[in-house]
Amino acid sequence: MPDGLYNGWAFHDHFEGGRKPGRIEVGGRFLAFLPEDGGGVELPIDGIQVRRGGAAGRILFFTHESAEGWEVYTSDHAILNDPTLKHAYGITRALRSIRRAKAIIRLAILFLLITLSAAVVSLWFFRSAIVNQAVDRIPPALEVKLGKALYAHYAKTGAEIDDEELTCQFQRIAAPVIQAVGDSPYPLEFHILQNAEVNMFALPGGQVVVFSGFFERADSAEEVAFVLAHEAAHVSHRHGLRTLASRVGVVALTRVFLSDSRALLAVLAERGANLASLKYSRDFEREADETAFATLTEAGVDPRGGITLFRKFREDSRLPDGSERVLALLQTHPATEERIERLEELVRSLPPKAHFKNLEVDYKKLKERLDHCVGVGTKEKE
Ligand SMILES: [Zn+2]
Repeated sequence: MPDGLYNGWAFHDHFEGGRKPGRIEVGGRFLAFLPEDGGGVELPIDGIQVRRGGAAGRILFFTHESAEGWEVYTSDHAILNDPTLKHAYGITRALRSIRRAKAIIRLAILFLLITLSAAVVSLWFFRSAIVNQAVDRIPPALEVKLGKALYAHYAKTGAEIDDEELTCQFQRIAAPVIQAVGDSPYPLEFHILQNAEVNMFALPGGQVVVFSGFFERADSAEEVAFVLAHEAAHVSHRHGLRTLASRVGVVALTRVFLSDSRALLAVLAERGANLASLKYSRDFEREADETAFATLTEAGVDPRGGITLFRKFREDSRLPDGSERVLALLQTHPATEERIERLEELVRSLPPKAHFKNLEVDYKKLKERLDHCVGVGTKEKE
């Protein structure tokens, strides 16, 4: 638009429909409204009235007492800076009020942004508290049910190794752990699955899965005992449920607050297939290590198995060609220097004459039996 020309409209009874579009021309001593087919109006600048109206006060209305029944309007705010109009009565007021309205909108947006970021920040801070509260509302019995339902997913694959002799040997390692954990709403059930990956994980509610590949890397019953106690600790601290709950989002959590814990469990069950690769926070891992240490010393089992095992895992992670099966475990259970140091510190805190019992397991035989079972399983598959 050239200087002094603006797009606009005018209201007047003689227009069809009461209004018409046209050009607004500001120049000399007049503001003229010029519709294409003529029949416009000239409002003298001297004595012109300006007011804001329309949606959000975006539209500027011009009237003059000499032109009764006419109302010229535009949404082009550039007109407010027109040199001819600048000093007209009402323009300064209209400008000021528009600036004020804009400032108010800016303030409102700023306020909204601050409030939103504060909400996000506090949600971030309180998230774990919200998760904990939500999880606390889930009855252990439901969690046990959930764990069994999730384990059924693995059982269906037919990978569980169910061998009497192997189970008998394995129970000699598991029994002291189960006994030391003691009374718990989560009955521990250990399962050995045929899988070459060096991995183990706990499902909510007491189901613990150890892959056959893990035994390939463990060299003693004590090393196995440590991971069983570690996974048992994840169970008793409800780490699986807490980790899952922190991922399902606020909506599912809100449902728990509305006493519909079944809804959350349904969501968790849906995602259950990923439990083998569920990564716990460092805090959870530290807590599980410390609890495992306490469980084993309570059981009279040498907890140093954890240290020798972690050192091996650490070596594995340093292998330049780091094979996949080892890395899977390290992703969920990083054998960090920090974890090894913490366990060594705990070992140093033991009484000097701490005595540990012999687990009475022929670990070599256990591995041989496992090899036999895995071999049988492989043959059946072929
Ligand atoms: Zn862990």
